[in-house]
Amino acid sequence: MYMRFMTAEPFRIKMVERLKKTTKEERQKWLKDAGYNAFKIKAENVYIDCITDSGTSAMSSEQWSALMLGDESYAGSKSFYKLEESVQDIFGMPYVQPTHQGRAADFIMAKLYAKEGKYAIGNMHFDTFRGNAEVLGALAVDYVVDNGKDTASPSHPFKGNIDLSKMEKLIEENGSDQISVVIITVTCNNNGGQPVSMQNIREVSNLAKSYNIPVVIDAARLSENAYFIQQREDGYHNKSIKEITREMFSYCETATMSSKKDGLVNIGGLFVTRNEDILKQAQQLAIVHEGFITYGGLAGRDLEALAVGLQEGVDEQYLEYRINQAKYLGDRLLEQGIPIIEPTGGHGVYVDGRRFFPHIPQNEFPSQRLVVALYEEAGVRAVEIGACAFGSKDPITGEDILPDVETMRIALSRRVYTNSHMDVIANALGEIYKNRNLYKGMKLVYEGPIISLRHFTAGFELL
Ligand SMILES: *Cc1c(COP(=O)(O)O)cnc(C)c1O
Repeated sequence: MYMRFMTAEPFRIKMVERLKKTTKEERQKWLKDAGYNAFKIKAENVYIDCITDSGTSAMSSEQWSALMLGDESYAGSKSFYKLEESVQDIFGMPYVQPTHQGRAADFIMAKLYAKEGKYAIGNMHFDTFRGNAEVLGALAVDYVVDNGKDTASPSHPFKGNIDLSKMEKLIEENGSDQISVVIITVTCNNNGGQPVSMQNIREVSNLAKSYNIPVVIDAARLSENAYFIQQREDGYHNKSIKEITREMFSYCETATMSSKKDGLVNIGGLFVTRNEDILKQAQQLAIVHEGFITYGGLAGRDLEALAVGLQEGVDEQYLEYRINQAKYLGDRLLEQGIPIIEPTGGHGVYVDGRRFFPHIPQNEFPSQRLVVALYEEAGVRAVEIGACAFGSKDPITGEDILPDVETMRIALSRRVYTNSHMDVIANALGEIYKNRNLYKGMKLVYEGPIISLRHFTAGFELL
């Protein structure tokens, strides 16, 4: 009842950061200088930055005050115990090893769970785990449900789910000793921030347990996933977010987290487990690669800010704002006929490059062309997740292999932009969409030696 009029952001602004408005001529020059690669544009020349939601959150006044309480002791810092308590409260798991970023937790997890020549099953593995797994010689396979690859099936509520029959088939055909781990990424970043249902987490876990295969959750966006479960899954409407997160993690042995997402901080990661033996091994790796076990590569003040941020991340009023901001932008694009991945996911809106520019073939980078157009028109920086970022080459013929996904991701930073900024993005894309026939494709003129990382440094020309 009281909420009826209370539809705006559940915070007010205490400190502001100036944004620079620029001219189209300036932006055209900067684009040219950057080789038409958004990663090479200076951030100060961006009006609204949607290149990632990672490490870009605005901290609250509580977090800024917590920074001053940081205990910078090398060992046994008071701040570590506060973080440990906050993590235990949300994860319902006993053992916590902080790390400097999510990928460091991925590295430790890959070292302990990925095995040479054996499979690591996931919905869609995140790049940093895949990189670590491949270095170790493990076979990382993506078994997201077929619906999860279909950009236009709005009625499917949990497109991040793992396909149980594919998983069972792989186990049966190869023997369970050939599968070293199952990793569930919540939410599933690579197909649009799509959630995984509790039922799927439970069933994947039961299946894995029946074959003695350990389950790991990559929990970067744990609270967004929990909110989707509460809103969309039968039996969870009356459960609190924390009840839901604790149930999610009751089905896994270990969880990793990049705290730069739902931790609402700018740096940090977590390795969390219920297995004491795994903890001891993780601590050894942390000491070698990160720092002593009670700080793991972070300052005491970072641990404080994260302890508070995790709790703010599970606040329902915050999550309602967060998920509905993405939906607001998605709806404003849909009403103009712009093709996006439906339903809108948790941390951004993904525009379908192939359906937006149907006349531009995928090997001429339609989504990258859209990234360039959006920056040129409105100073908005998004990112391509398509032929450049996920393309590969046939190792024998050297021919291009084009990925299933072909999108432009508009990632939304947490608590940073208002819905007026969303309107700027929607209006600019509407204008580009009206004139879509005027745009031509692009040509890749430079790529670095490691193809899976080429999008960070690639250079393009406009055709
Ligand atoms: C960001 C992310 C990571 C890596 O975390 P960093 O903090 O960037 O090192 C791993 N997994 C998922 C799902 C992520 O979104």
